[in-house]
Amino acid sequence: MLLRSLIPTLCLAAVPSLCAADILLQGATVYDGTGAPGRVADVRIQGSRIVAVGSALAPQKGEAVREVKGLALAPGFIDMHSHGDGGLLEDRDAGAVTRQGATTILVGQDGDAPFPLADWYAKLEKTPVAINVASMAGHATLREQAMGKDLYRPSTPAELATMQRLLRQELASGAFGLSTGLEYEAAHFSTTEEVIELSKVAARAHGFYISHVRDEADGVFEAFDELVRIGREAHLPVEITHIKLSSPPHWHEAASRMPALFARAKREGVTLWADVYPYTYWHSTIRVMVPDRDFYNPAKVEAALVANGGPAAVRLAHYPPDPSVAGKTLAEIATIWKLSPVETYMRIVRATEPQPGREEMLADVIGTSMVEDDVRWFVAHPDIAFCTDGELHGAHPRGAGTFPRILGRYVREQHALTLESAIHKMTGIPAARLGLKDRGRIAPGAIADLVLFDPATVLDEATVEHPDAPPLGIPAVMVHGEWVVDGGRVTGRHPGRVLRHPAR
Ligand SMILES: [Zn+2]
Repeated sequence: MLLRSLIPTLCLAAVPSLCAADILLQGATVYDGTGAPGRVADVRIQGSRIVAVGSALAPQKGEAVREVKGLALAPGFIDMHSHGDGGLLEDRDAGAVTRQGATTILVGQDGDAPFPLADWYAKLEKTPVAINVASMAGHATLREQAMGKDLYRPSTPAELATMQRLLRQELASGAFGLSTGLEYEAAHFSTTEEVIELSKVAARAHGFYISHVRDEADGVFEAFDELVRIGREAHLPVEITHIKLSSPPHWHEAASRMPALFARAKREGVTLWADVYPYTYWHSTIRVMVPDRDFYNPAKVEAALVANGGPAAVRLAHYPPDPSVAGKTLAEIATIWKLSPVETYMRIVRATEPQPGREEMLADVIGTSMVEDDVRWFVAHPDIAFCTDGELHGAHPRGAGTFPRILGRYVREQHALTLESAIHKMTGIPAARLGLKDRGRIAPGAIADLVLFDPATVLDEATVEHPDAPPLGIPAVMVHGEWVVDGGRVTGRHPGRVLRHPAR
């Protein structure tokens, strides 16, 4: 009894072998994150780190022993594109993230980042959350700082200089590089040269560039070319985030055209990366479908609808002016309103536009405009990492289901890739991209961010109808040596850290 009551004190006194948090996991099938096949081993955790991996490790005094035979043990998954920065200080458990096995999220995506990052990081350190958080600096965020609301044009040289100065500040605060969302109107009118000049600043800080490219529909390959050019001229790794081919003319082209893109980038000395979420449908604003803001040009709206698979493929998720049509497709709403699909689109955009004294209202859509064979090709590709693109409480099931969906459907059911390759793409690969040397692997000395799951049952349960539904087969998740999920439920512990770019 005396010893137990002393344990917290001894922990503070850094006698790790006596810490209450010391844990021995026995008999797990360990997938170490390097892409190596699983092997049965015991794993010892002291404080926040893994200290031993081996067979038949003898329990030590004061150590919590947990028998996990039959379960897979992997490094905690790393989400290369998360919108978890929205509402994280209010939902500190971030159950949508942790229950699917993710322990680190990269936020500040699509050009939209917390600003200034130092202030937000300070809040997160004062009020810790369950997960580790890394952030990009956002291009649109920098534009807003330098250009105010006058964003629908290229920047001036003076504005660009301001953005470069602010970007240096954000990189010094720990941003991992620059994110853009060039399909969104706040950034769509920027020139490639503007993005290159900013990317050069990120390159000098050893950061990388991640982009929701300028066109994910008909012009997607030209948009990929623009991204490769940015990498070539600014000399930094470039990542196509939530890669997709979402326009009928480009369906089924992943296998035939992507290898050439990767090969050309390599020839040109560009490090080209990508990440993907495992769904054939996307979720975004209705406005992104016409990125140049020509929302009331019937020919352009018609083309946008066709490019996104037609009005029956686009479902309105939220519509504050008339919630009764939320959940219906543009084709269904057109019938109800007795309008054409083009007129229906225009009416929705007009009714939700920002007006003097009124903020823009959220009119977001879920578009089913990708095809399964392309998604499977991206999911299976050995170098393409994963992202959720998810919110903590979003309308798209990717926010709660991405990682278990890959493990259950693409690994176990379809054999699209091996379990060790999937785990490598969820852990070691993203950790290397982010320069996180002591994460993304199971080895002595590594941080104890871990996930325990059952390869035989792991599966996503989240759907468009129930986007928050937790997955099956992921009983426990650990961050920094503490269980944040146990018995499939969040524990209320908040051991997550702010991760700053290691080069800083
Ligand atoms: Zn995006």
